[in-house]
Amino acid sequence: MPTFVYMTSCDGCGHCVDICPSDIMHIDPTYRRAYNIEPNMCWECYSCVKACPQNAIDCRGYADFAPLGHSVRVRREEEKGTVSWKVKFRDGREKNFESPIRTTPWGSIKSPQEYEAPNMADLKSEELAHEPEGLNIEGGLPALSPDKFKVGGV
Ligand code: SF4
Ligand code: SF4
Repeated sequence: MPTFVYMTSCDGCGHCVDICPSDIMHIDPTYRRAYNIEPNMCWECYSCVKACPQNAIDCRGYADFAPLGHSVRVRREEEKGTVSWKVKFRDGREKNFESPIRTTPWGSIKSPQEYEAPNMADLKSEELAHEPEGLNIEGGLPALSPDKFKVGGV
């Protein structure tokens, strides 16, 4: 479900612009408010919803699960650390979901500049950044060795 912005709630802070991985949240040059320039290209990641301090971003429900007369509302509740969803079907049924915004405190993740500069030798490594410690694996990534292959087919 792509997002849209309530322009009367938006204050133009630009957090959604900074965080959108699809680069489709833009600030209107005339009104200085954010808008989704291309809903078809929305990843539906809701990073913008989670980042918006004004609760100015909402989403449009898909017609297959929330047809005519429906409403789908998403709301960031920072004090609870959650994102809440309220889905209203046209027959009056309502479903409410709540999910955590993140598992670490807001602002606690280091920015790339705070990490050590990359080592050129790492270019030859098969490990990605922060592997294996980021995966909580001790002793390196699991790998196949010839003695683990079955011989003979059964
Ligand atoms: Fe961008 Fe994700 Fe928001 Fe879509 S849901 S506008 S991709 S941040
Ligand atoms: Fe507007 Fe919210 Fe985007 Fe800030 S994060 S520009 S308030 S929609």
